[in-house]
Amino acid sequence: MDHGIRKTGWIYSELYNWHDTGSYNMLWAPDLTTQPGQHVENADSKRRFANLVDVSALADDLVRIKPRPATDDEILRFHTPTHISHLEGLCASGGGEAGGKTHVGRASFDIARLAVGGVLEAVDAVIKGAVDNAYVLCRPPGHHAEAELVTGFCLLANGVLGVEHARAVHGLKRIVVLDWDVHHGNSAETAFYDDPDVLTISLHQDNLFPQGRGKASDTGGASAQGANMNIPLPPGSGSGAYRYAFDSVVLPAIEQFGPDMIFVASGFDAAAMDPLGHMMLSSEDYRYMTERLLQVADKCCGGRIVATHEGGYSPGYVPYCGLAVIEALSGASAKITDPFLDYIANYGAQELQSHQKTQIDAVASAHILKQAAE
Ligand SMILES: [Zn+2]
Repeated sequence: MDHGIRKTGWIYSELYNWHDTGSYNMLWAPDLTTQPGQHVENADSKRRFANLVDVSALADDLVRIKPRPATDDEILRFHTPTHISHLEGLCASGGGEAGGKTHVGRASFDIARLAVGGVLEAVDAVIKGAVDNAYVLCRPPGHHAEAELVTGFCLLANGVLGVEHARAVHGLKRIVVLDWDVHHGNSAETAFYDDPDVLTISLHQDNLFPQGRGKASDTGGASAQGANMNIPLPPGSGSGAYRYAFDSVVLPAIEQFGPDMIFVASGFDAAAMDPLGHMMLSSEDYRYMTERLLQVADKCCGGRIVATHEGGYSPGYVPYCGLAVIEALSGASAKITDPFLDYIANYGAQELQSHQKTQIDAVASAHILKQAAE
C-alpha cells in the first residue's frame, strides 16, 4: 500500500448514481425539433471517476466514509420549508422538471439528502481530525441551488449546508468557499453575500451560467465588502490564465482572510474536453490548484479542506482530472498517467494572454482598493 502524506476522506455512494435526470432535449431545444438524449447531468462522469479511483493504486489509501441522509433541520439552515415540500412533492408524484433545466426522478430528493449528508460527514471527519481533508463525490450537484431556487441541475446547496454545519455544530468562525467549476458559484455567493466571516471566491467563464451573475464588481454586501470575489475569465482560458489568477488573486486573498476551513466547489467543466464549458484545463492544472491551495491551507487552518463535487460533463476526462485532485489531496500516487495530457498541453494559447491578464488584474486591483479603504 502506498500511503500518502495525508489522510484523505473519500465520500461516495452508488446511490448517488441513481438520481434519475431522464431523457431530455439538451438544453433549450423545444420538443419535436431535435432528438431527445440523455440529460447532460447524468451519472456517467461521476461513476467513471469513482471507478478510476477504484482501479488505481489510491484505492486502498483513502479513508472511505459512508454518507447519511441530511435531516430537515440541517437542510433548513439555508433552504426554506417551501423548497423542501416542492421537491418532496414532485418526487412523490414520479418526478419531472423541478426548475432551471433540472429534472428529478422518484428517488432524487432522498439522494439529494444523501449528498448533503455526505458533505456533513466529511466536515465532521475533518474537524475531528479523523482525516486531514476530504473529497465528496456526491450527486446531485449543489453550487447553483439557492434558498428557494432549483436551477442548474442543483437541488440542495451541498457546500453552503456544509459551511453552516461547520459553524453551527463545530463553532468555526471564518470559512472560505472556493468555486473552480466553470459556472458561477451563485449558491454560496447568495448565501454569504452580507456575511464578512465567509469569503466566497468564484473562478468561472464570463457570463456562462447563471447569466447576469458572477460579475467582478459584485464584491460583497455593505457589511461584507471584499468578502465576495468573482473572477470571470474569457472563454478559451487555459493553464496560464488559471494559474495566474490562482497565484496573483485567489491565494493571496485566502491567506489574508485567514480561514479556519476551506471548502472547494470542485467542478471539472473548465477542463478541455467538457461539452458545456469552453476552457482548456488539463488534469495537471487541477493538480496545481489543489497543491497550491493545500500550501495555503497548511498555513491558515491545519490543511483543512473539504471538496464537494460539482459539474464536469466529459465522461472521458473528468475521471483523470478528479484523480489528479485526489492524488494531490492525499499526497499518494495513483500510478496512472493521464493519456490526454500532452494533447491538451499542446493546444494553442494555453499560456496567459494579455486580455486574460487585464481581466484578472482588474479583480486584483478592485480588492486591493477595497482593503486599503477599510
Ligand atoms: Zn458547472
